[in-house]
Amino acid sequence: MEQKSFYIKTFGCQMNERDSEIMAQSLGTFGYIEGMEIQDADLVILNTCSIRAKAEQKVMSMLGYLRKTKQKNPAMKICVAGCVAQQEGVKIIEKMPHVDLVVGTQNIYNLGEFLENRDEFKGKVITDLQDNYKIPKFLPDMVVDTTNIENSDSPYPKPFRKFLTIMQGCNNYCSYCVVPYTRGREVSRLVSDIVDEVHVLVAAGIKEITLLGQNVNSYGQTNEVFPGRPNYGFADLLKKVAAVEGLQRLRFTTSNPKDLTENLIECFGSIPNLCPQFHLPVQAGSDAVLKRMNRKYTIKTYLEQIRQLRKQCPEIALTTDVIIGFPGETDDDFQQTMALLEEVQFHGSFSFKYSDRPGTRASDFTDKIDETIKSERLARFQNRQDEISLERNKEYIGTIKKIMLETCGEDSAKGRTDTNHIVHIHQNVAAKPGDIISVKINFAGQHSLKGELI
Ligand code: SF4
Repeated sequence: MEQKSFYIKTFGCQMNERDSEIMAQSLGTFGYIEGMEIQDADLVILNTCSIRAKAEQKVMSMLGYLRKTKQKNPAMKICVAGCVAQQEGVKIIEKMPHVDLVVGTQNIYNLGEFLENRDEFKGKVITDLQDNYKIPKFLPDMVVDTTNIENSDSPYPKPFRKFLTIMQGCNNYCSYCVVPYTRGREVSRLVSDIVDEVHVLVAAGIKEITLLGQNVNSYGQTNEVFPGRPNYGFADLLKKVAAVEGLQRLRFTTSNPKDLTENLIECFGSIPNLCPQFHLPVQAGSDAVLKRMNRKYTIKTYLEQIRQLRKQCPEIALTTDVIIGFPGETDDDFQQTMALLEEVQFHGSFSFKYSDRPGTRASDFTDKIDETIKSERLARFQNRQDEISLERNKEYIGTIKKIMLETCGEDSAKGRTDTNHIVHIHQNVAAKPGDIISVKINFAGQHSLKGELI
């Protein structure tokens, strides 16, 4: 079989990263190999994100660059996959005729098959979304040996942590969000499929797994995931996955507070390998804004959840997402977001200016906030968050932390605590990525810590 090479560029979230792995594996079974350089590839795939206008603009500018690349290498095929593909469909090919194939979010599992007959896919758009969609069982193609990372001939380091998608889509229709339109209705994978996948990963040397979904808290609510157990939920799944022998660290993302249960909060006090870290997007500190966002919780209930989480697990590191300048956000609404930040003292947050996403309800709201005001508010929020992050990080100085190593050089290394803090070490650690070592934290910055071996 003639061997072709592919190159995947992934935009956006961890779900997209996992989808890119699935596409790579699908292509591998059809004789494609992954290449290192985009300009030499026979097939370039852009796995796209449409959650914010900026992410979409990056895709368009990359497609502009690829037009010139394709002029030099006319045999190159270009595929746009993921959320922008789902949303824009044929419009992508109308705007960018050098694109050969558009593949939506539910169709990536069959990418290899679509490409098998390469002459026929020119101009094809495959973006069907099914209401009763079932995520195919797709066991990862892992090499069972991570003991000899340094001596491997592979250009890629062997992985020691992985993302694992447990569900897709969303039924919540937050008024600013495109996900229900780009990823379709919420569907959860079978518990048995997920646990089989965890076993494969752990047997291959994976030590840390992050369970992924648009709203993992509602896992199992829209379809049967465990025959005979109708109320099987996310907390049950966490316990089941955590019990797989050899799994050292378990994380998950992301969560909607409206579906956060007491059972799930209790997991932070009872599952030893569940990392003490929780990303719980609040989006705004004002109930009036939350209502217009269609988030279906109040700040009072959110704060109670934070209190319970800290009661179960005092060392838990909490992070959040915030949208600044949502349509109709008054000065008072924004002050309430600042007050929430003061009250919770998040370890970190991802904050963005609101931007219209086509097709969402909020894009039709008429009371948009002036860009200058949005920028000023965002700067105020981020400056204060930076100060708080620094203060919180300083609390770690003098403590001993176990870090899982990510990179190891001759005289430096980098790893991550179970609370998800990056730690730099300026020493030879005589260990390899994936190993867990103990360090004493001796310096704290806004975004990372420094430590020394003990
Ligand atoms: S919960 Fe809301 S913000 Fe999250 S994916 Fe669903 S609609 Fe989007």
